[in-house]
Amino acid sequence: MSSPEASPCTTCGACCAHFRVSFYWAEAEARGLPEDLTEAVTPWLSCMVGTNRARPRCVALQGRVGESVSCAVYDQRPDTCRSVEAGDAQCLKARAGYGLEPIKQE
Ligand code: SF4
Ligand code: SF4
Repeated sequence: MSSPEASPCTTCGACCAHFRVSFYWAEAEARGLPEDLTEAVTPWLSCMVGTNRARPRCVALQGRVGESVSCAVYDQRPDTCRSVEAGDAQCLKARAGYGLEPIKQE
């Protein structure tokens, strides 16, 4: 999810409910992510709770995908979230999974 000012993301949220959102375990503490919102995947990797399952949805995603959404931990979100940009390949894949139109990268 990209920054709220920019953003088609506030009416989307597909990437927060399509992929496993995993990251190096120490990032959670470094960013101040609440412990109960993350879970271990391996001894080195953690992920956002809710994203490591067949129908992923990050526990921090609020609202309805494709309508109106926000991230409850936006300032603490891991690099994995920051690396997805509106209109990039991951974005298009996630949006397609929800039947949402592709958007152009800014
Ligand atoms: S899928 Fe794309 S438009 Fe939707 S929230 Fe993620 S980055 Fe934003
Ligand atoms: S932490 Fe926020 S930006 Fe990252 S997947 Fe969850 S809801 Fe989306």
